[in-house]
Amino acid sequence: MSEEQNLNTLSQIIKDEIDKYTNKIDTFEVGQVVSIGDCIATIYGLEGAMNGELISFNNDSYGMVMNIEEDSIGVALFGENISIKEGDICKRTHKVVSVPVGDSLLSRVVNALGQPIDGLGPIQEKKFRPVEMPAPQIMDRQKVDQPLQTGIKAIDSMIPIGKGQRELIIGDRQTGKTAIAIDTIINQKGKNVICIYCSIGQKNSSIAQIVDKLKKYDALKYTVIVNASAAEPSPMVYIAPYAATSIGEYWMHQGKDVLIVYDDLSKHAVAYRTMLLLLRRSPGREAYPGDIFYIHSRLLERSCRLNKENGGGSITALPIVETQAGDISAYIPTNIISITDGQLFLNSDMFNSGQRPAIDSGLSVSRVGSSAQTKIMKQVSKNLRMALANYNEMLDFSRFGSDLDKSTQQILSHGAILLEVLKQKQYMPLSLAQEVVDIYIVQQGLLDEVPVNKVHSVLKLLSSTISATYPYIYKNIEENMEISNQDKNQIENIISTIKAGLNKITNINQF
Ligand code: ATP
Ligand code: MG
Repeated sequence: MSEEQNLNTLSQIIKDEIDKYTNKIDTFEVGQVVSIGDCIATIYGLEGAMNGELISFNNDSYGMVMNIEEDSIGVALFGENISIKEGDICKRTHKVVSVPVGDSLLSRVVNALGQPIDGLGPIQEKKFRPVEMPAPQIMDRQKVDQPLQTGIKAIDSMIPIGKGQRELIIGDRQTGKTAIAIDTIINQKGKNVICIYCSIGQKNSSIAQIVDKLKKYDALKYTVIVNASAAEPSPMVYIAPYAATSIGEYWMHQGKDVLIVYDDLSKHAVAYRTMLLLLRRSPGREAYPGDIFYIHSRLLERSCRLNKENGGGSITALPIVETQAGDISAYIPTNIISITDGQLFLNSDMFNSGQRPAIDSGLSVSRVGSSAQTKIMKQVSKNLRMALANYNEMLDFSRFGSDLDKSTQQILSHGAILLEVLKQKQYMPLSLAQEVVDIYIVQQGLLDEVPVNKVHSVLKLLSSTISATYPYIYKNIEENMEISNQDKNQIENIISTIKAGLNKITNINQF
């Protein structure tokens, strides 16, 4: 045999072998792990795989298709991947990642795949919902015009939130962001709002504390906790908020009102960046992938209020974002500010000086909530922001001058009382009626002669007197949304009696 013939036979043998091999594996449905590392597997094959499809591996572990390239597929793995090796076979499942939904999730703690992690047994739900769903159409929505009471005076009066709104809670670390969200959940007791607290990349110990608090204040029974802790692989952290939203959407489509807290989306952005850098997608600004805006906008667009034909349910979203040294113009904060309908900015200087909750009324805004604010709250809190703005301006000004005229002194003393009234302890959300009375009396100047350190004692005495002797005042506010002239006189009388005995009152220092 000549050399050429020899080569031809050899190449024929190789070709036959290759044909036999490709015939054996259906590369459309099945793939083989080429490389693996840090929760990411690169797969050869799986030609039919779709973006977001669930891929199953031999040993009962799963992953989600994230990258589809010409000759390989990038899969993000959920859970431990130590048992997956190079050369392992994986298969398409023809399903997208889904979570169980339904009432048996209430009062449970689940992971990003909806599996229980509270040790209270399995969740028997037969209904599932994909974690990624398109947002409701514009024509299926209606205007935000019902209030969602947070029970926090400073928010309900100045930055009101409506059902179906997306309101960002933003501030530096340790400024009471989580506290506001948890108080809002506690305040939904008896108000027919289902709450979901989605913890993203936090410590498990903080979650345990939150679960304890919710239990203590009887709020766990209408709450679901979705937890993807910092210790979990980044794909789990990444899908957690989508999973929480799917769980909420089930109730929204049944016509119920849902409140979702995403605590926090800065850590979500970091998890996404980690995952996509490992998948070798090209980094953009601050090394975040180019679609970082889109992942948050498609998440938050799913919160809305449906119209009557679609049941009238709603999802109100409270995403949380952490800033560095109060910089709200950084990349992720500005992205999320432009997606949401307003923000509650928490000021660390205010927080550290004891003004808690540290809501900065100048930088906080609610773009749709004012049409949802109750009529009575709108009336009593009309000039509140203006008074605070005046106060802050005068405060800066008074640092320069020594002699202050009477009107400046008046603005300063009124502002100080106002800020004192807006201080509120954690886990003590107030009813609408109590908030209205507190704001009403301070706005009327009825507390202006009270020393600042006695303001909370006066408020406490006032509310206990009204509840014990004149409960109709609160009832009138809650039911008819009004304070009649008679009630106003009554409130003034109570205040003057309290003021007459002011020196007998002990100071309550709020903090
Ligand atoms: P992190 O950045 O760590 O997530 P955070 O901004 O979520 O922090 P919180 O954990 O809510 O802040 O609060 C920080 C601390 O301040 C907690 O110890 C909390 O108990 C306290 N705190 C928050 N709000 C109030 C309040 N209104 N009154 C008194 N203490 C408060
Ligand atoms: Mg927090």
